[in-house]
This record gives sequence, C-alpha cells and structure tokens, in this order.
Amino acid sequence: MVPKCSIKQALDQGMLQLSHKDTAKLECEILMSNVVKKRREYLYSHPEYLLDATEYSNFNSLIQKRASGFPVAYLTGSREFWSIDIKVNKYTLIPRPETECLVESVLKNIETESKQKILDLGTGSGAIAIAIASERPMSQITAIDICPYALDMAKDNANKNNVSNIDFLLSDWFSEINQTMFDVIISNPPYVESNCPGFISGDIRYEPRLALDGGSRGMDAYIRIIPGAIRYLKPGSMIALEHGYLQGGMIHNCMSDNGYCDIQTIKDYAGNDRVTTGKI
Ligand code: GLN
Repeated sequence: MVPKCSIKQALDQGMLQLSHKDTAKLECEILMSNVVKKRREYLYSHPEYLLDATEYSNFNSLIQKRASGFPVAYLTGSREFWSIDIKVNKYTLIPRPETECLVESVLKNIETESKQKILDLGTGSGAIAIAIASERPMSQITAIDICPYALDMAKDNANKNNVSNIDFLLSDWFSEINQTMFDVIISNPPYVESNCPGFISGDIRYEPRLALDGGSRGMDAYIRIIPGAIRYLKPGSMIALEHGYLQGGMIHNCMSDNGYCDIQTIKDYAGNDRVTTGKI
C-alpha cells in the first residue's frame, strides 16, 4: 500500500533526487503539473493535495527517468518556445531558449504586414517556422526537413497552434526546392562537433543525432547551406543562421568567401555569439 503523499511532500522528495541539477525545483514542478494535469500555479495553491496511487507512481517514475538524464521535454512531450507550446518527440530537437535570438533577428527585418517568402531549413519540431509564421501572418513560409517523422510533428504543431501560412516539404536541404526565390532563408542546422562528449554522457544523447551532429568541426551543414542558398535568395535578401558560440568567425568567413555582405554576428542572452546574418 502506497503511503499518502501530498504534492508538497512529493516535490520535496523529487528535488532531493534531482539535487545535482540547478533546475531541480522547476523540473519537479513541470513533471508534477504534467502528472496532476494542472498548471504549475495549482501546485502552490494546493500543496496539501494528496496524490492518488497512480499519480504518485507516475511522478516517481518520471523523476527516476529524469535523474538518469532523460530530458524533461521528452517526458512531458512538449516545450514552450516563443510562448507557444511545441510538441516534441525523439525525432525532433527540443527547442532552446537561445534559438529565440534567431527568431528575433529575422523578425527585426520583416515588417509586420509584409508578404515575405521565408525558407526554414531543418525545421524539426517546426518551432522557428511557427514562431515567425504567427508573428508575420501575411508572410509565407516553406519549412523543410530530411526526417519525415519530424515533419509530421511540425505539421501537427502548426495545426495545434492554428498557423496555416507554412508549407512543409520533405527535402535534403535544397534538394526538393524548385525555382522559388526567397526573401529570407533561416536555419538552426546541426552544429555540434562529432566528438562532443555530450553525445555519450550529456542530455543531448537522447536527442536526434541527425539534428545535432555537424561533423568534425560542426560546420558540415553550413558548408552546404551558405553557398547553396545563393541561388534561392532574391538580390538584397537575407540569410540568418544559428551556430555554436565558437563558430561565429568561421560562419562569417564562409559567408564572405561566398560573396555575402553586411555580415553581422549577434549574441544570445547569455552573451555568446549565436546567430550570424548576411545579405546577398
Ligand atoms: N544548441 C544545441 C546544443 O548545444 C545545438 C543545436 C544544433 O546543433 N542546432 O545542444
């Protein structure tokens, strides 16, 4: 027989088990609100609520999985990005807060009512495309991915969030894109170096390697995207790429070698180089 346990007691126990993580409190609360199917505020207003046996065992099993490194977003099935609820699964990367910088850098260059054609390369869960599509409803976005399962998730996310100005396309970077010319091309491609220890011991070991592994220097995707984008960009239009915090210089050089101008690297909220933009 399971002893009766309140939300507060279960959260305290959970925090002890995740004590090695700085985000233990937040993670326990997210997992608990998922178990009791209530918003996080409920946990504060009802700390004495007694969990039933199923809730108690579900919470404990989520805490065990989290303690072994499994990402919270895969346990709950979603992550908030740009204040939008984005569903994720093992075929999609979990949206990162720093990727909001990529969205911001693009939105700054598109007026609210303008009708731009935008291409999102490697859309994954669709987080970036959906954020931009919802902020710029007159624009039309083409979102591609090489993984059909990721694309299904992206379509599902667009439907759930009532976003209809995105066309989804299964494509290996530009392979299936016809003659269309774009005003903006954006991407958060795989950029982690293949020998990154995180692939073996970090949380990223649970995420799709295809979406993260950028080859020995993390540059493989850029070497295809930066030259490849030129024939799909209208004159004067923009490319915006997310990258690793040490890759800004290499991306800048690659853009300038390929004839891009007005190249700028933007820092994320943590002060790291994160996005480089250029014009053609
Ligand atoms: N920012 C991610 C990480 O460091 C990498 C994302 C990517 O490769 N596009 O885990």
